[in-house]
Amino acid sequence: MKNGLSVIEKFKAGAADPVRFYSAVSAFAMVIHLMYLIMFFRESVYIMAAVNIFSVSIYAAGIIHILKGKNITDFMQLALIEITIHAVLATLFVGWDYGFQMFLICMLPVPYMLTIKNKYLMHLISIMILIAFLVLRLICVDLGFNFSGKISLDPSGWYAFNSFMSFIVIIFVTNNFRNENLKLNKTLAEQNANLQKAASTDSLTGLFNRRAMSEPFKIAELSDKGYSVALLDIDYFKKVNDTYGHAAGDMVLTEISKKLIDICPTEACICRWGGEEILILLNGTELAPAADIAERIRSEIAANKFEWNSENFTVTVTAGVAYAPKGSPSEQTVKLADKRLYKGKADGRNRVVCADRS
Ligand code: GH3
Ligand code: MG
Ligand code: MG
Repeated sequence: MKNGLSVIEKFKAGAADPVRFYSAVSAFAMVIHLMYLIMFFRESVYIMAAVNIFSVSIYAAGIIHILKGKNITDFMQLALIEITIHAVLATLFVGWDYGFQMFLICMLPVPYMLTIKNKYLMHLISIMILIAFLVLRLICVDLGFNFSGKISLDPSGWYAFNSFMSFIVIIFVTNNFRNENLKLNKTLAEQNANLQKAASTDSLTGLFNRRAMSEPFKIAELSDKGYSVALLDIDYFKKVNDTYGHAAGDMVLTEISKKLIDICPTEACICRWGGEEILILLNGTELAPAADIAERIRSEIAANKFEWNSENFTVTVTAGVAYAPKGSPSEQTVKLADKRLYKGKADGRNRVVCADRS
């Protein structure tokens, strides 16, 4: 094996094909019942030979069902019915000493793994299997009934074989339960991650939304080196919408966001703060390097040609940058960046402002 994983390990890891796994299980069950069929036929226990023809057909149908990609739970349901009928009849017609009744104990947890909506029905099926076990014990051992007469085969070999097969069945049943849980947990974890991502991301730009910033701000406030905030606003954005349409405005926002992701260091938190305003949190970054990043953003956006319906146009941004030493509240820092942004707007736009006076 190339990666050293067995089929079952791969299946547990979600890599192996459950169709192949369950059809192999079904084929294995079919072979075992063929063996039983031959044994019962040779011992002239014809009713059990007939039961095993039924069992073999059930597992053959099971293989087809699974290969057709149908629900695996249906297979479990079918196996539950087959194993229960087989165990009851074999115990009645062969006797308690051959150990067929052990399969009933293996079936007790199965109703809880099926998609039965009524929880009382699950208990009821399980209790009925338990009652069948106790009644068989009463009939075959306490009352000493034997429906098939004497069988020449030594029961101890069959008892050992049936014990072994019961262990296999119980291992399969519990493993199946574990796999189903793992699958469910994996799905839930994925859904949870998707929900968390959706709740903290802006759907148009893929940037963080404002709600997602409270944690990064809390962390930044504790940073020994302090942090910087750059607040960017697209200049005359309304004009872009008015001239080229809202979809063109959306395209500009998306393109600018991509540029910001390219330019900013990976540890920067880039957030769509409001309509066409973007906030960049630079943790552990002092004012000068933060201003350099903002200036690079400004100049690259100003040099960029945006294209919409074969028309080219340019867009500029204005940014206000503020630095906060350790412990400074983020509200105050954002307010300062905002004040500088509006100073930049008042001074003519397309600029980076990082001081209150110039
Ligand atoms: P200034 O230079 O003063 O910032 O001018 P401005 O036109 O950019 O500012 P204003 O606040 O007048 O207009 C902002 C516009 O941004 C108005 C609004 O329709 C537009 N806008 C906000 N969010 C979106 C969006 O998601 N998509 C599009 N296409 N437009 C948006
Ligand atoms: Mg604007
Ligand atoms: Mg604005």
